[in-house]
Amino acid sequence: MSWYRKLHWQIILGLILGLLWGLFSTQFGLNAFTNDFIRPFGTIFVNLLKLIAVPLVLASLIVGVANLNDITKLSRMGGRTIGIYLVTTVFAITIGLLSVNLVRPWTALPEETKQSLMLSYEDNLEGRTQSADAVADRSPLQPLVDIVPENLFEAASNNGAMLQVVFVAIIFGIGIIQIKNEKSAVLVNFFDAMNDVIIRIVDVIMLMAPYGVFALLASVIVDLAGDDLSQALNLLMALGWYMLAVILGLLLHVILVYSTLFKVFSSMPLKDFLRGIRPALLLGFSTSSSAATLPVTMERVQKNLGVEEEVASFVLPVGATINMDGTSLYQAVAAVFIAGAVGIELTIFQQITIVLTALLASIGAAGVPGAGIIMLVIVLKSIDVPVEGIALILGVDRILDMCRTAVNITGDAAVSVAVAHMEGKLGEAHYDD
Ligand code: ASP
Repeated sequence: MSWYRKLHWQIILGLILGLLWGLFSTQFGLNAFTNDFIRPFGTIFVNLLKLIAVPLVLASLIVGVANLNDITKLSRMGGRTIGIYLVTTVFAITIGLLSVNLVRPWTALPEETKQSLMLSYEDNLEGRTQSADAVADRSPLQPLVDIVPENLFEAASNNGAMLQVVFVAIIFGIGIIQIKNEKSAVLVNFFDAMNDVIIRIVDVIMLMAPYGVFALLASVIVDLAGDDLSQALNLLMALGWYMLAVILGLLLHVILVYSTLFKVFSSMPLKDFLRGIRPALLLGFSTSSSAATLPVTMERVQKNLGVEEEVASFVLPVGATINMDGTSLYQAVAAVFIAGAVGIELTIFQQITIVLTALLASIGAAGVPGAGIIMLVIVLKSIDVPVEGIALILGVDRILDMCRTAVNITGDAAVSVAVAHMEGKLGEAHYDD
């Protein structure tokens, strides 16, 4: 197949052209056109992906659980999944702390830039602080309560409540295991067929991916640069070391932690793994949402990496909600950077506190754009760093969000491969688009 017919190349082309169009649009006063006539295609694309996320999780997980035939297998798989998720996230935060302490990006931030950033983003902060306060004020067991919906349709109508959908699918699947085969077969076949239909729909939606990604990237650049590209470039330069600390940490995490994970739990080389999930990575990067990318991640992990449905349909939706290695790593870097910029040198004890709070904050963050920076408020409060400091990093957050989301998705997919291997449910990998 010629290279340009491959989906990932088309998506990469969409990314590059979107970036170029965004720059052109800011330079030649076309931002209104971009907002009115290009941005909507990005929104439509993301909406399409979100539209199928809940039915896909519901159908594939019900079939997955029903096929397990044995509930103890489910609890073993659940334990392994959550255990590995927690361990990789703790590694991610530690790598973030190492990276930021090594780069010390706050020492390169000019005093006047600091003042002007604080002033210009001050208004933007209030909403985020309130959302984070609402989360922090909840009782400790509230996240557990939130998993159990009081109404099936309400749960299924909210993409943010993916754990509730997972919960409903699991109890439904368990119910199916309990009844006689001749009756359960109808249901299993129904959800199986529905699952196949949705996978076909994912393929169709992916045909639109290059255009969707073009529109998303153009919108990101227009939002970032507004009408003044040179100001945006100045901002990028001023925060360059901070961004470097985050990106360096993310790269180290992917290279060190996931390749070790594969060495221990499967024989898949990291390179082949990344090749297999390429379209999902690119979509995570362009949409900044692990929840919206979930249907594509599920499809790629099964089709390309050989993870069986029973594992993928459980590990990935749970991961899209609670496992955010990229987000937690970024929160660690951001917290230490802000502390440094406002003149607070953190003690080792405070840095250990970051490990705990960033772990919780990333679990609590939803898989949507900008969720990580809201939860950063909780991390900052735990180490007594003024939350106003978030103003310093808001301007470049979307770019880092794109990078951390790609890593969040990589983490979920990597753990699905590891768990599948442990469960004896890892088939052969194929790397075609
Ligand atoms: N956008 C991220 C995700 O969807 C969450 C975040 O860090 O803001 O995974």
